Amino acid sequence: MSAVDDLLRAEIEPLQYGIFFGLLVTLAIIEVFVFRSPNPPQRKLRWPANVGLTILNIIVIGALPVSGLLVSDYAQVNDIGLLNIFEVAPLTALVIGLLFRSFISWLIHLAMHKVPLLWHVHRVHHTDTYIDISTTVRFHPIEFLINTPILMVSILLVGISPLTLMLYELFDTAMAIFTHANVRIPKRLERFIRFVLVTPDMHRVHHSTWQPETDSNYGATLSVWDHLFRTYRDKSPDALSKMQLGLTEFQDDRSRSLWWLLTLPFQSERASLGAHTILQDSQPTPEKGNDK
Ligand SMILES: [Zn+2]
Repeated sequence: MSAVDDLLRAEIEPLQYGIFFGLLVTLAIIEVFVFRSPNPPQRKLRWPANVGLTILNIIVIGALPVSGLLVSDYAQVNDIGLLNIFEVAPLTALVIGLLFRSFISWLIHLAMHKVPLLWHVHRVHHTDTYIDISTTVRFHPIEFLINTPILMVSILLVGISPLTLMLYELFDTAMAIFTHANVRIPKRLERFIRFVLVTPDMHRVHHSTWQPETDSNYGATLSVWDHLFRTYRDKSPDALSKMQLGLTEFQDDRSRSLWWLLTLPFQSERASLGAHTILQDSQPTPEKGNDK
């Protein structure tokens, strides 16, 4: 396994960018022909803010003074973390490490929805009124600043190996683009894939405006955690293609402004709703809405 470790270590950045941009272009083409939602994607209106956040996040991630790989190396050299302390066999440690890393992502995502302060930051991702490959990195940069220390501590506690971490990051990069793509996978194949992996249809439910659906399907890579912790929700293909996406209170064009998205976590509830929504609140309550 050390040969794979050496190879990945030397080529991790080109591999990650290659997977990211390669899949981005491939799925952008597929989205045009085999789409789940027939609604116009309004790329000219939505993409500038999404691309802006993607560029900002690439800069922020690159500027972070620590990386998971550094922490993992430190844990391995100093025998820190359960897998290192108990000298678990490499292949077993790899499987446990991958499962644990995937679980941590699920747990952080759950916290992003359940802790009000974190939801203020994470809702930037959910304000997109359509989802396609451009939604993949539509996150507020603060979200990475919150995630990173939690991930570092988790790596130290469990002793996730550098190889495990590099393999997971490549897998996660591919899955992040795949699950946000507006693509339609043949039903039987999609059902087969979702036994193990999160599919675009499964993640689309998570972007619903209806809160019980927004608060479901937290998985980013493996679907097992949502099944295990009963946060899994399904929807028929027909309902998926017609469902409203985003957050009920932000269906207007503010969600397409990069500046508004960057300031959203710092806005009070009332300020972020704005006069438009407050006026709407005086109308009869809609049957389904996201009242977070
Ligand atoms: Zn979410």
